[in-house]
Amino acid sequence: MSKKTARSANGIATDFVPDRVRVARDVPPLSDPPAFIGVKTTNIYCFPWCNGRPKPENIVSFPSRQAAEQAGYRPCKSCYSALPAGKWRDHKTAIELMTPKEFSFTANLGYLTRSTNECMFQVENNQITRLIQAHDQAVLVQISSEHEGSMLIRFVHAPARLKKSTRVAVARYVWDWFDLDTDLAPFYRLAGADPLLSPLVNQLYGLRIMGIPDLFEALVWGIIGQQINLAFAYELKRRFVAAFGEHLTWQDRTYPLFPAPQTIAALSPADLTALQFTGKKAEYVLEVARQITAGTLSRQALLASGDYKEAERALVSIRGIGPWTANYVMMRCLRDPAAFPIADVGLHNALKVCLNLERKPTIPEIQQLAESWQGWEAYATFYLWRSLY
Ligand SMILES: [Zn+2]
Repeated sequence: MSKKTARSANGIATDFVPDRVRVARDVPPLSDPPAFIGVKTTNIYCFPWCNGRPKPENIVSFPSRQAAEQAGYRPCKSCYSALPAGKWRDHKTAIELMTPKEFSFTANLGYLTRSTNECMFQVENNQITRLIQAHDQAVLVQISSEHEGSMLIRFVHAPARLKKSTRVAVARYVWDWFDLDTDLAPFYRLAGADPLLSPLVNQLYGLRIMGIPDLFEALVWGIIGQQINLAFAYELKRRFVAAFGEHLTWQDRTYPLFPAPQTIAALSPADLTALQFTGKKAEYVLEVARQITAGTLSRQALLASGDYKEAERALVSIRGIGPWTANYVMMRCLRDPAAFPIADVGLHNALKVCLNLERKPTIPEIQQLAESWQGWEAYATFYLWRSLY
């Protein structure tokens, strides 16, 4: 087994050899408590059973993890409030995530393998290999599902002192990537009664909107995808990541991290047009990188109001972000189930095929169709996209 260590400063210093992973099956049916405790002085949120003893005047209560995070609170590194209670098990060299009933690892892999030009991860033998940055460490993981009802995240290459809080943060990334927080049952009830969606949800049962948890990556991918075909979009992303992303080589393969906004903010448009970005797209990407680096744009700030319409207004106020890109980012990063990139060409093509039309439907026709999808437009769109493959 040949191994190389990273050449970057991402906390990857020493080789890490995982033990055999033993998976216990007796998971107690715990779940999140009705309230989380936030500590105002540290901006950290905890489970009520955490050991900390903050002064009562410094305590604030949140009804959910999401509410705490929208308010700018970070998960606790001691009680591991980043992950839902009872939905995961720590096996040291792996973390096991308990998946919801409406989940199919195979259906999600089908989505992830739709392009052979995807550069951010590799899928082989029903296993995803990806480098994930969590806190100040980059960790190479392999994600698989060996048992119905759970996914296993193996830490195959990581810093020698891989902290439990880092492992949990990586697991949280995977949890978000697979959109495991969303209860799909209401969508399936709605779709089951919709003649257009009903065959799709039967065929793709358990598919979730595979997200792009990182806002910068989501925005750049949205900008790249404007008005070009998917194959060329993947090619541009590959060049961008190869040119500016950190990466790790393990067993003769290279796994990248998406370029950091700080790196991109320091570039000039010519650095991107050299990769065949148009002049405009180069400027849009640099603008987004600068705003994120300056702290004027963040996922947390976009979600802070709790109102997705407000997030959409903030996004479209950025140069180069129109309603399509904004809704695409809201769908895949902000996790608005009602986000609706209605002008999407793929959506139009899918509708044309599913409805057996001679031409693509018009926007008013789509609006009419979508009336019965209210609140679940993002999921309807995602399933329709999949129908094209
Ligand atoms: Zn805690």
